[in-house]
Amino acid sequence: MADAVVTRFAPSPTGFLHIGGARTALFNWLYARAKGGKMLLRIEDTDRARSTEPAVQAIIEGLDWLGLSADEPPVSQFERAPRHREVVEEMIARGSAYRCYTTQAELEELREKARADKQPPSVATRLWRDRDPAEAPEGVPAVVRLRAPLEGETIVRDEVQGDVRFANKDLDDLVLLRSDGSPTYMLAVVVDDHDMGVTHIIRGDDHLTNAGRQTLIYKAMGWDVPVMAHIPLIHGPDGAKLSKRHGALGVEAYREMGYLPVALRNYLVKLGWAHGDDEIISPEQMIAWFDLPQINKGAARFDFKKLEAINGHWIRASSDADLVEMLMDSRDVLPNGAILNSADEATTRSQLTAAMPGLKERAKTLIELADGAAFLFAKRPLPLEEKAETILAEGGRKVVADLLPLFEATESWTVEALEEIVRDYATRSEIKLGKAAQPLRAALTGRSTSPGVFDVLAVLGREESLARLKDQAG
Ligand code: GLU
Repeated sequence: MADAVVTRFAPSPTGFLHIGGARTALFNWLYARAKGGKMLLRIEDTDRARSTEPAVQAIIEGLDWLGLSADEPPVSQFERAPRHREVVEEMIARGSAYRCYTTQAELEELREKARADKQPPSVATRLWRDRDPAEAPEGVPAVVRLRAPLEGETIVRDEVQGDVRFANKDLDDLVLLRSDGSPTYMLAVVVDDHDMGVTHIIRGDDHLTNAGRQTLIYKAMGWDVPVMAHIPLIHGPDGAKLSKRHGALGVEAYREMGYLPVALRNYLVKLGWAHGDDEIISPEQMIAWFDLPQINKGAARFDFKKLEAINGHWIRASSDADLVEMLMDSRDVLPNGAILNSADEATTRSQLTAAMPGLKERAKTLIELADGAAFLFAKRPLPLEEKAETILAEGGRKVVADLLPLFEATESWTVEALEEIVRDYATRSEIKLGKAAQPLRAALTGRSTSPGVFDVLAVLGREESLARLKDQAG
């Protein structure tokens, strides 16, 4: 039986979890789920000056929010430095690495010479490759370099890019340990992936050249090289590198913009992977369908419009109860979330639940959902938006005044009964239903758009509805 699949997400905690990282995490998570394996999280925190604890927390929280938590506690790369050094000692003992005392000045001179001799710059790295260690100068700190092959080629068999070939003569005797004994990134990644049992490396194609050099380290240790899949980077809609304006933001920014995790996953999986022309892909379908051959070779383009459309779909597809929970959970991060604190929590929940069927048809984000719900919590007399003011000023107040006694007289405050009252009134007055509904909406919500006006009446209830109508009856 083949080994169980182990993938990993290996962010550097120098910033928040950005959208490109989230997509890499998603692909790793999905591949692990699709194959019945697991996804690990490795925090690549060896750059002590730039790595921060808040960034680590933001990455973990971002993954949790997206529903992409790792299957085991995170591994800190920095803490594994003693193990990295141990592997280097082993490589020296095997003869596949050596101590190098080349000074910076010598290195520059050798590079200059290589240029003049039309040799690849890699030759400059090999000064100590064949020297007797007994010649080591005193007091000069050594780095440890890989004794890389000089001939032939190194092939990365990439699941996305195909075979990528590197001529070995062009590859450096790369540094494994710096002179202060700290492991290099190139070494740490390989040792960690090996020790963590990683079988598949799925990451951005900006790491493709590293993959060639990392392959040399695997070979030097006699370790199996994991399957590699380098995914094309995300570009903006104009084809340029993704910038903040395009959407190169942390995932918490997407939360603040009111996107649902299920929608963001749906959008992200399609950024670089496809299942035919399917736009809407459920969490279950994603796991069932995800595989490496369908990853695109070309760069993906980020498009907020598509993300919004997909988000709107998932808002409509979510249950009313889930949407109420999501709104309540996000009220501290949504820019207009404070609306949801204007009444006590139980009232807010029951009002939201009652209004949700009408609200969710119109909203593409949770911000829009909260905005649509604002009329529920507005205080009398309602502030009127300009369009609502115009509707009321141009004959609307009379309609409200005509309807008010009819509403006051009704025994049953239901959508059906209220609709019948307004329909009868419109027929008798020889006006279209909309001409009666619009002023009602303006008076009840202060706006010209809202869920169906009969739903609004029912959700607000008799007392509040009549009071709002009285405020505007002219
Ligand atoms: N830490 C690297 C990054 O954030 C990823 C390394 C890897 O996936 O091998 O770009």
